[in-house]
Amino acid sequence: MGVPTVIAVDVGGTSIKGTLVDDSGATVRGHDLPTPVADGPAAVVAAIRDVARELADPTVVAVGVVVPGVVEVSTGIARYSANLGWRDVPLGALLAADAGVPVALEHDVRAAGHAERTLGLARDVADCLVVVIGTGVAGVVVAGGAHVRGAIDLAGEIGHVPVHPDGELCACGQRGCTETYASAAAISRRYHALTDRRLSAEEIVAARAADPAAAQVWDDAAVALGLALASYTMLLDPSLVVLAGGLSAAGAALRDPVRDALAARLAWRPAPAVEISPLAGRAGQYGAALFAWRAAGREVGANWTLG
Ligand SMILES: [Zn+2]
Repeated sequence: MGVPTVIAVDVGGTSIKGTLVDDSGATVRGHDLPTPVADGPAAVVAAIRDVARELADPTVVAVGVVVPGVVEVSTGIARYSANLGWRDVPLGALLAADAGVPVALEHDVRAAGHAERTLGLARDVADCLVVVIGTGVAGVVVAGGAHVRGAIDLAGEIGHVPVHPDGELCACGQRGCTETYASAAAISRRYHALTDRRLSAEEIVAARAADPAAAQVWDDAAVALGLALASYTMLLDPSLVVLAGGLSAAGAALRDPVRDALAARLAWRPAPAVEISPLAGRAGQYGAALFAWRAAGREVGANWTLG
């Protein structure tokens, strides 16, 4: 039997990413599947179990799985996800029965924030915000050295801070939410509305130098993030904002216009640093691995090197 490992699974709206991770943070192997959202929640659950089974190994001591939506950590029940279409899925118990080891179920954004605080730029930063930008936009609030969860565990929902009072309708029912302009899905949807062409956010950022519509929706996204971050900065005075999630793969093309949009809204005080996560789109996966190791009774990660 080799060195102990954990299975880390990050369930997103488009793909389910699984990795087998040892206690030094090294990826032993990976297995991904597309998320079969169109086939219904039972198919999504089956695909998650398939990914975990594919990674099963005698060295596995725990499983960590992170999902979007409302998650009940204490019972391992995924209560609700609009993107995945499920309600009250006992995912922790299902995976524990499959794998025969402890399972940690966590919220994907909280997991990404935990990874940023353990391994990434937010390590040892007392006042910061980790913004995860993917299919949606959400953040992890760190104030005075503590992760702020809020009264009903909803702190950090910066994606639903309204930035345009009479703006576009958000899937949440409000108008003008940050997420309606700045999520990868919103950028793609708004570009389609302008041009009738379907491009991913990644293709849009690449096209923006030569394509005015691409430049417009990208700029609108940066402005929306800048406005939301200005409100956050005025309330909580962070020293750092970390941009994480799939859209952060755009690097400086995201960081620089967000920095500018934020600075433009802060006339009398300095802006906090705005940086791209070194974990890139893998923050959720790293978080799943850290929570899995915790479920196995080990606090690891402090000396992990990222690769
Ligand atoms: Zn909203």
